[in-house]
Amino acid sequence: MRRPGAQRLVSEAFPAPAVLGTDLIGVPEGAEVRLDLSLESVQEGIWVSGTVNGTAIGECGRCLDEVRQEIAAPVQGLFEYPDSRAAGEEEGSEDVFEFDGENLELEEVVRDAVVTSLPFTPLCDPDCPGLCDQCGARLADDPDHAHEVLDPRWAALQSFTDEKES
Ligand SMILES: [Zn+2]
Ligand SMILES: [Zn+2]
Repeated sequence: MRRPGAQRLVSEAFPAPAVLGTDLIGVPEGAEVRLDLSLESVQEGIWVSGTVNGTAIGECGRCLDEVRQEIAAPVQGLFEYPDSRAAGEEEGSEDVFEFDGENLELEEVVRDAVVTSLPFTPLCDPDCPGLCDQCGARLADDPDHAHEVLDPRWAALQSFTDEKES
């Protein structure tokens, strides 16, 4: 620390402290998340880069089936010392985080990396046909699924013949 050039490699697996993801898909709280990071001391703070691995679970946006997706997302961010932040020109930059000089709060940078790697609309299959708009059946399970649609005019005729027969 405070020695530019010093580097440390960290490989660690831990349970997700909270859901990492969006409302639709994410790594559930408590599920294993693996970090393989390089922590490099630079002038302004600590430069963190590497990957986060985990399994996101969500719901298909069309048929609501469970969707599982392996994540291998690139992580990078600069954890700046508070004093260098005050003088920093990069204020407001996305990948810059505050560093109190003792603990790297990795949750935010990891969360950002995971969220960025997740699909906006998760799908169980890119060709998922979704649900029947009449009865809600999952069309992928039953490709020939169809409802007999009676034209209202035919329906009227039908009731006419029914009456005649009775
Ligand atoms: Zn689906
Ligand atoms: Zn149906």
